[in-house]
Amino acid sequence: MEHIDITRLQHLDAEHHLHPFNDNAALAKKGTRILVKGEGAYVWDAEGHKLLDAFAGLWCVNLGYGRRELGEAASRQMTQLAYYNSFFQCTVEPTIQLAVKLAELTPADLNHAFFTNSGSEANDTILRLVRHFWAVQDQPQKNIFIGRRNGYHGTTMAGASLGGMAGMHKQGGLPIPDIHHIDPPFWFADGGDLSPDEYGIVAARRLEQKILELGPDRVAAFIGEPIMGAIGVYIPPMTYWKEIERICRQYDVLLVADEVICGFGRTGEWFGSQYFGITPDVMTLAKGITSGYIPLGAAMFNDRVAGVLKHQGGELAHGCTYSGHPVCTAVALENIRILQEEGIVDRARTEIAPYLAERWAELGEHRLVGEARIAGMVGALELVPRKGERRFFDERGHVGVLCRDTALKNGLILRATYDSMLLSPPLIWTREQVDELFEKAWKSLDETA
Ligand code: PLP
Repeated sequence: MEHIDITRLQHLDAEHHLHPFNDNAALAKKGTRILVKGEGAYVWDAEGHKLLDAFAGLWCVNLGYGRRELGEAASRQMTQLAYYNSFFQCTVEPTIQLAVKLAELTPADLNHAFFTNSGSEANDTILRLVRHFWAVQDQPQKNIFIGRRNGYHGTTMAGASLGGMAGMHKQGGLPIPDIHHIDPPFWFADGGDLSPDEYGIVAARRLEQKILELGPDRVAAFIGEPIMGAIGVYIPPMTYWKEIERICRQYDVLLVADEVICGFGRTGEWFGSQYFGITPDVMTLAKGITSGYIPLGAAMFNDRVAGVLKHQGGELAHGCTYSGHPVCTAVALENIRILQEEGIVDRARTEIAPYLAERWAELGEHRLVGEARIAGMVGALELVPRKGERRFFDERGHVGVLCRDTALKNGLILRATYDSMLLSPPLIWTREQVDELFEKAWKSLDETA
């Protein structure tokens, strides 16, 4: 590999690049890690360290790194036709084929795709189009969205407002009006003496209380991640989503599943909604749609919502320069082709996830771990001050960051949110990589404790 002047690059980075979700002054002092290569389950940094990526980039590299076919699909499309826009009433075959493929893969009658560049924009899209859906049916007052505290739906004004991250709400004039939040389902912290299944119903009924408080004729939609990722992989009890779905149906509130993390096999099912047995009216997608090889997002609408938007909605005053970008849709199609033809989602569900769950539970025995939660290929270890107690550290996040940095030193990428160590590996992992995860994570927990 060609020589890289790491110090110089770090200096230039510190001088000229503002990093998202970082304290940039602290990062400049520490020096960013420069990555140079990815292959399968691993990435390499400029100093030659080989790292097992147990986070799939940022919940997205489902196919693993270095698949030439995706690069070739991009290159073919770039050379043939690099760009088009619907503005001029045109389209291209890969974008049509991707819309068809998504209609086929997503549950029930989610048959209509609107393309964006990212998950955040997909959530902006649903906020505007769902409000429009009600407005053109003479219900403009039915415009309130309900999300959850600590939910994450992206970084744009609408995405961050739909999300319930207090730190984000503090910056830049958020949230925008007519968005409300209920408490999230997190049995570990909030379940008290209830069984997880009992708690799931109690947590879901918070939505009913909120709808009744606001008035059902004012509530447009409820949005949630099937499994809340960024805040710490909160896996709700199986009763939760079924009850949420019942409540949405009862009050004619649209159910929006933000599948940006859960979509494309993360839970072992193609979509998190299938894992929990629910049928949303609207779904947002990104990340795994291209395995992170190129930016792309989508909002999927069911026949009812899309029918109104198409036949009563008039001109949609909404869209991006790169909506349905042909290179991105060509890469997404190739990604989905490989996931399907190589049976990667099925193999993850039937072979890897059960073994991962076994070894994750073993990590749960460690004296620093209070809970080891997992659903398919996504999980978290909750680090606690005292084994056996469902209680957080007084100073939250300190131990998590220490464990994350120790894991990195040991050649393992795990994310920390507060003191939850988050797992979301590429779906192509083998049993050997699960064992490597176990060895490196156990060692890192030992060194952190
Ligand atoms: N929704 C969820 C559940 C996410 O986890 C994310 C990003 O992590 C987003 C939306 C935003 O997607 P993007 O970062 O592509 O804008």
